[in-house]
Amino acid sequence: MLIGGEWVAARSGATFETVDPFTGRAWAEVPRAAAADVGAAVGAARAAYEDWRRTTGNERARLMRRLADLIAENAERIAVVETTDNGKLIREMEGQLRGLADHYLYFAGAADKIGGATIPSDRSNFLIYTLREPVGVVAAITPWNSPVLLASWKLAPALAAGCTVVVKPAEQAPASTLEFAELIAEAGFPPGVVNVVTGFGPDAGAPLVAHPGVDKVAFTGATATGREVMRGAASHLARVSLELGGKSPNVVFADADLEAAAGGVVAGVFAAAGQTCMAGSRLLVEASVHDEFVALLAEQADAIRLGDPLDPATEMGPLAFAAHREAVERHIAGAVQDGARLVCGGDRPPGDGYFVQPTIFGDVKGEMRLAREEVFGPVLAVQRFADEAEAVRIANATEFGLAAGVWTSDVRRAHRMARELRAGTVWINSYRAVGPMAPFGGFGASGIGRENGLVALDEYTELKTVWVELSGAARDPFKLG
Ligand code: NAD
Repeated sequence: MLIGGEWVAARSGATFETVDPFTGRAWAEVPRAAAADVGAAVGAARAAYEDWRRTTGNERARLMRRLADLIAENAERIAVVETTDNGKLIREMEGQLRGLADHYLYFAGAADKIGGATIPSDRSNFLIYTLREPVGVVAAITPWNSPVLLASWKLAPALAAGCTVVVKPAEQAPASTLEFAELIAEAGFPPGVVNVVTGFGPDAGAPLVAHPGVDKVAFTGATATGREVMRGAASHLARVSLELGGKSPNVVFADADLEAAAGGVVAGVFAAAGQTCMAGSRLLVEASVHDEFVALLAEQADAIRLGDPLDPATEMGPLAFAAHREAVERHIAGAVQDGARLVCGGDRPPGDGYFVQPTIFGDVKGEMRLAREEVFGPVLAVQRFADEAEAVRIANATEFGLAAGVWTSDVRRAHRMARELRAGTVWINSYRAVGPMAPFGGFGASGIGRENGLVALDEYTELKTVWVELSGAARDPFKLG
């Protein structure tokens, strides 16, 4: 683990194995942190903070640009590590990692522009201005589906703002974050500015969240864990941002380009084997094109090439770990039990690896579990609607609100839908587009706060207001103002 610029084992000497989901075999052994290691990492981050918060934005930006260069040079190596650890396609990872450098460049560009404002005063004897200051030590806790990307969504704005960070990747896929930490050290960030501890949620994540030396927790993971994280952070009133789960709808109107829409729906739910928070796991189709569209989709789903995630020709890899495949299979069995109609898939394909076939259920009703619960796998729930009002009603009938897709050729309808949908991101005639410049986050049970975009800097800064009395005149101590 990287703590205070040193590469260290867990203090207890404990380690754990991480499994390659394509072979089902352990392939790496990493330290298993406990509270003492977390304490050391937070201590290192606190110590580093005193100097780091006083650096100029320019100095921080220079290091971030150096890191961006190192990411570009090492993208392929880190992509292979992450693919081996979580089964994500190499085809997706290489693009993702090239894009990763852009996150650091984007926030490097912002690092020297973080400032306050002069406030026009209602009293002539006061100058009032604001300062934006770093929030302090940040705990960044990430899930297994995109460890390095999701750590970077937190690290880039945090470093730009002048925060120091302790990153804890998920126990199912910790290796790529350790590899990535080597680049951070090589880029020349001072010791303790970025620390990485590896370990399990209860032994490492929970003590990190509850540590009084942590000023802010930036968490991505499951909604249930998000609730626990918020409770842990409440013990010392640490700020929280939570990027949680979703049950995002893709809404297809009869006037849409159906070929393009089918591609978007496939991208939404079968890319990354559905293991993305923004998965378009509900498909809402206008009744007049329902049967035609579902048939087109089933044809495309059946043709998806399953295989070795390290093979660039593979379109869908295995699920990330054995217990997760079993959870996905329970969702499939539950949907059958609830009376949904299996259109395609539903089984394990023959052979090794934690695969589940691309699966589509038709005739899903709003009260069924498949319409309400996040599966986090390649399983699509199809519902039909009669008109725009019903589409909006079904789309918004969820506790989640992370994302939505709208497929239509009517520009007025597209903007009406964008306004009506209760979701942090709405894609029009597209799905799964993200970038450092565009805020991302959820409504409702999908989370609190936004990552990416300049607004992300607000999550890592405190606003300080300064009042300067200019006249030197005596004042009545018993009057406000
Ligand atoms: P998870 O909540 O089980 O784990 C996420 C992280 O939290 C891991 O590092 C884990 O060790 C840690 N953790 C677990 N218990 C903890 C505790 N009590 N205190 C502190 N940390 C703890 O999630 P997961 O199964 O790894 O990831 C899948 C979930 O993540 C899905 O629900 C998915 O929708 C969500 N997700 C959301 C986004 C987003 O941006 N909204 C992105 C990716 C994934």
